[in-house]
Amino acid sequence: MASNIKMVEGPDSYDGAGFQATSFDKIIGLARANSLWPLPFATSCCGIEFMSTMASTFDLARFGSERPSFSPRQADMLLVAGTIAKKMGPVVKQVYLQMAEPRWVIAIGACASSGGIFDTYSVLQGIDRIIPVDVYVPGCPPRPEQILEGVMQVQELAKNESLRRRNTEEYQQLLNSYSIQ
Ligand code: SF4
Repeated sequence: MASNIKMVEGPDSYDGAGFQATSFDKIIGLARANSLWPLPFATSCCGIEFMSTMASTFDLARFGSERPSFSPRQADMLLVAGTIAKKMGPVVKQVYLQMAEPRWVIAIGACASSGGIFDTYSVLQGIDRIIPVDVYVPGCPPRPEQILEGVMQVQELAKNESLRRRNTEEYQQLLNSYSIQ
């Protein structure tokens, strides 16, 4: 029976009869990239787009991310979708701090990326003022396809990240610049 299920491509490897040889980094990267558990931090309209992204038509489950985690400790990918008031900033940061490494962050939409239309005293002008962001998804709101594209960008980062990156001095400096130890 013909199947239209597309399998994830394997890593570059040396294949022979009964064996496949590749590097540990690539296998771990492949596993991580296709099992990114999202933590949706949705505060406003962009959160509705995320709901659509999870639902049947766009189906985030196809990317191995069907299990939203509302506990930071079991999440790999923080999805900040919506306006973040300055009062909420410490809460977003606390959630980020409670996530285990390796962790990735997507700023979904103009508000999370830059404050959006809310150029006002009470709104954080982008979550990268308080935590490091890996991928920015533009739009007000972005369509679900754009959110999927953002997730696919994180998949690429996860797939190609060296296992040593999180222990490097550069990464430590990045965290230090956010006053994160
Ligand atoms: S970017 Fe636009 S759609 Fe998204 S939360 Fe802000 S105002 Fe709403």
